[in-house]
Amino acid sequence: MSFFDTSLEFLKGVGPQRAALLQKELKLFTFGDLIQHYPFRYEDRTRFYNLNEVNELMPFVQVKGKITDIELIGDKFKRRLVAYLADEYGEIELVWFQGINGIMQKLKPTINYVVFGKPSVFGNKLQMAHPEIELLTEKSEKGGYLQPVYPLSEKLRTKYIDNKFIVRLQQEVLKGSLNHIRETLPTALLQQQNLIGKKKSIINIHFPKNQEWLLRAQQRLKFEELFFIQLRLIKMKLVRQGKFKGLVFGDTVILTRFYKEHLPFDLTEAQKKVVREIYADMKSGKQMNRLLQGDVGSGKTIVGFIAILLAIGGDAQAALMAPTEILAQQHYANLKKYADLMGISIALLTGSVKKSARKPIHEQLENGTLKILIGTHALLEEEVKFNKLGLAIIDEQHRFGVAQRSKLWQKTTDFYPHVLVMTATPIPRTLAMTLYGDLEISVIDELPKGRKPIKTTHQFDSHRLKVNAFIKAQVDAGRQVYIVYPLIEESEKLDLKHVMDGYESIARAFPDLPISILHGQMKPEAKDFEMARFVKGETKIMVATTVIEVGVDVPNASVMIIESAQRFGLSQLHQLRGRVGRGAEQSYCILITDHKLGAESKTRIETMVRTNNGFEIAETDLKLRGPGDIMGTQQSGALDLLIADLGKDGELLKTAREAAHQVLDSDPLLQQPENAMILMQIESIKKAAVNWSRIS
Ligand code: ADP
Ligand code: MG
Repeated sequence: MSFFDTSLEFLKGVGPQRAALLQKELKLFTFGDLIQHYPFRYEDRTRFYNLNEVNELMPFVQVKGKITDIELIGDKFKRRLVAYLADEYGEIELVWFQGINGIMQKLKPTINYVVFGKPSVFGNKLQMAHPEIELLTEKSEKGGYLQPVYPLSEKLRTKYIDNKFIVRLQQEVLKGSLNHIRETLPTALLQQQNLIGKKKSIINIHFPKNQEWLLRAQQRLKFEELFFIQLRLIKMKLVRQGKFKGLVFGDTVILTRFYKEHLPFDLTEAQKKVVREIYADMKSGKQMNRLLQGDVGSGKTIVGFIAILLAIGGDAQAALMAPTEILAQQHYANLKKYADLMGISIALLTGSVKKSARKPIHEQLENGTLKILIGTHALLEEEVKFNKLGLAIIDEQHRFGVAQRSKLWQKTTDFYPHVLVMTATPIPRTLAMTLYGDLEISVIDELPKGRKPIKTTHQFDSHRLKVNAFIKAQVDAGRQVYIVYPLIEESEKLDLKHVMDGYESIARAFPDLPISILHGQMKPEAKDFEMARFVKGETKIMVATTVIEVGVDVPNASVMIIESAQRFGLSQLHQLRGRVGRGAEQSYCILITDHKLGAESKTRIETMVRTNNGFEIAETDLKLRGPGDIMGTQQSGALDLLIADLGKDGELLKTAREAAHQVLDSDPLLQQPENAMILMQIESIKKAAVNWSRIS
């Protein structure tokens, strides 16, 4: 057992009870866990402020001076202790509401103290509540250190496990571990990347010598973390490519016929580029594993169909799996048009397809006469057997797990089909590299020509009349309008009230217009009925909660109004906006908020108004919320990062990925002596651990 696997119980000052608390509250079990419990910020003890420089806008500051007076104010139950601290320049009140007796005994006049706390102003006077106070010593006089601040919980504080306590534990465990911390990156790599060693960085991440050393320590540890993640992903890809041969689909006769006779429009440059990438994969002899990202409306479907034609040109079959029944139906309707033109057989298989209708599908699939199968999870069922599955397309990746993906490609025994994953949820590059780092990535970053960009504006509540006039004008011009209300998580009742109130006020404003309403509490049949009326154009306005987010396609709807827009996340706003702009007419999105807007809401609204680009929006979203909250990333262990931040460390991630590529390109099995450290690190970490940078 290594030093780092030692239970915290055995660290000086811990013992069984505190160990249990640290386990429960912070998930710290071992010495290694503690060492990797990094500070989340540092307090600046590098200088003393003069009291005339201090003001309430400053974060924590350090001052020094003498206590000039002490007062006990208030009665027994509302007592407070006020001590007056003065230096040559001014005075500040130090206030305590608790632990008064202890403090009183400690404070002596005429002695110099170091005081550290958050300045505030109370009744025109500068004060600090519950500051840290210590005798000024020769050592503290010199000052010059950054005080680490560790994540804690309330529970721990009540048990007297406070920051000071953790600091002491860190000092203790570091002292013992200096002989045990191993370097994990080869010297050449450290030099190339200008990084400091592991031991130095561990020491400086906890007790930085100064700001510069802190930055260097962070840089090193972040790099290491990202490097090992990328190394693992790239290795997975290499292993798969070596192991899984792909069918060679180089025959383009059928595709050329489609291009010549039936291609309904010129492909955009971005579509052409992606088609080339897919073609190169499919004829390479290696199994394709490609993620295709493209904003709503960027034309992914036709690219998918082109890939299907390549598979069929190679005498194989193709399958497309969508996450919901509605989406599967839409894909089927779209692709059937093309397939019929080309005389290629196609079928739809979802949960609601009757048993009697399934049988012929199963048979034709197995004897190879059915070429294209579109469907939902139903495709994964045991009875669904392909004659020769050459290509599996998966739409909306994030709703399917990796396990399901591989289940689909294991539907054949002697070879694996090529896999194309399509998603309309733009994922920032840094996130994609980490979540899908084992896939190749293609991006359609351009909309078809002639598409009119949706015009987005922000309106305050108070301009409702203006908005209503706009609705009226659009409906008079023959268009339809969505008005969307947020889901209020705390209360379904409130939810309903919001939409119903909205519905009533809209009905009052437009007494002559037929209006639809759609919300979560309605029965499915009622929802379908309302939706169908709107699709047919029988109703002009659709008042709804976010239930309309996926699946509906009404080209005649040209206005999306989002009420209480500040309550929506960025990606959700973007998805909602994607419901309009599908027809030939100019489309609009109006974001309505009240006057009180927080800084973050403001950024979200401004971003929406500024751009229609889903990737830009996703980048901003990532910066605002961090990776954990981005749609579909929650379950991913790859995001369980110790120190790197995918929202902020994009550049470093790129560098780390390049470095990992370099290492594996020249030494795929990590057998060269110069890579021994990397191999050792990988092997010393248990297989189950996702994060290969963890200490061991
Ligand atoms: P998504 O990427 O959201 O799946 P679709 O494939 O559904 O987008 O395409 C959206 C619309 O744009 C469809 O009506 C499609 O026929 C059309 N389209 C796709 N590519 C082009 C193009 N290059 N030129 C013109 N229209 C296109
Ligand atoms: Mg699509």
